[in-house]
Amino acid sequence: MPGKTTKPRITKFTNCRLVRGSSLVDQDLWIDSLTGKILKDQEAFYELHLSPDEIIDLGGRIVAPGMIDVQLNGAHGFDFSVPADTKDEYDEGLRMVNKGLARTGVTSYLPTVVSSTAEVYHKVLPSLAPTAKTHIATDGAESLGAHAEGPFISPGRNGIHKSEVLQSAETFEDLLTVYGVNNLQENPIKMITAAPEVGNMMAHIPELTKRGIIYSIGHSDSTYEQAVAATHQGARMITHLFNAMRPFYHRNPGIFGLLGQSERRRPFYGIIADGIHLHPTSIKIAYNAHPDGCVLVTDAMRLCGLPDGVYDWTNGERIVKSGARLTLEGSDKIAGSSATLIECVNNFRRWSGASTAQAINAVTATPAKLLGLEGVKGSLESGADADLVILGEYEDAFAGSVLTVDQVWKFGVKIHDTEKAVV
Ligand code: ZN
Repeated sequence: MPGKTTKPRITKFTNCRLVRGSSLVDQDLWIDSLTGKILKDQEAFYELHLSPDEIIDLGGRIVAPGMIDVQLNGAHGFDFSVPADTKDEYDEGLRMVNKGLARTGVTSYLPTVVSSTAEVYHKVLPSLAPTAKTHIATDGAESLGAHAEGPFISPGRNGIHKSEVLQSAETFEDLLTVYGVNNLQENPIKMITAAPEVGNMMAHIPELTKRGIIYSIGHSDSTYEQAVAATHQGARMITHLFNAMRPFYHRNPGIFGLLGQSERRRPFYGIIADGIHLHPTSIKIAYNAHPDGCVLVTDAMRLCGLPDGVYDWTNGERIVKSGARLTLEGSDKIAGSSATLIECVNNFRRWSGASTAQAINAVTATPAKLLGLEGVKGSLESGADADLVILGEYEDAFAGSVLTVDQVWKFGVKIHDTEKAVV
């Protein structure tokens, strides 16, 4: 979808480094705000007779595709899992999140709903459908569809998901009843996290896949054998690898063991690189085992960006926020994260041994591939959506090199610039 037809139409970035595969390449980039797409530079100039309306010298900075977060529960005080009094009020909260998220460099994402009652799914899911058809640049981040995390998960691996709302699906009707018949299509649900060993879920994976929904193994007590069986049924993803699942054991490697499968069978896997959910070495081991499947997620929730304190959570429980650490009151259970995706990229780059471009791929090209959006999102190839982040870099005495989101572009239009007021 095109961005708002504002001047300049054609922008050329020069003196910049583009993310190309696993490298950064010195090359110009042309984008078109009328079509919202990336242009083929030679073609634009010689064949279409287009010349740039604006040439931006980036002083050697990095141009990366806009970041994609496939697991985000909310932000700025708004929680996707909590219906408002009216749909209008909920949609208003969603618009605020979309604008706020875009300023962090996340230009598209899967709004994630934690285990909830059928009533909640029926209320919120229609609002979380992909917005591509109506989305304009200044709307900010764009939903690529909802991620329903639960409620068909293991009661022993529920993390902070409320035990009372967990379900077990025997027939496919059970899924339709919980999520809503009209919601259980690729639109609005794009991804479901469920435990394959709970109830008859294993048997329902092919039907979900047929409907265009990505099945992700998570919050699960699956053995290695059960996890392998789930991939044979069509599972393509692991939700926050290591967290809320049977731990790796040398005689039964559990879900983590899937990373040792053949190339064809290895699923994608989410990693929360916030420095709290996982030890850096666990991240490095997973990445070395299967670099092409690594998808960084924030799993961030609505307290992201709010001050420390005790906050109401769903179902009458409360969460203690202390810095980046969020725990369920009265326990040490981790309650989501408050990290931004670029912070996760910086941590990941430092811990995994990945190059800068490889770390960026884990929030761009790789999630795009998972979502079936190769060449549309997470790409700087011509024809891709011109969702971009301009990344600066500085040296920190402790953390070393740190990437910063300096500018954000959506559909070829600049929507955020840290050096200027928000556009
Ligand atoms: Zn979770």
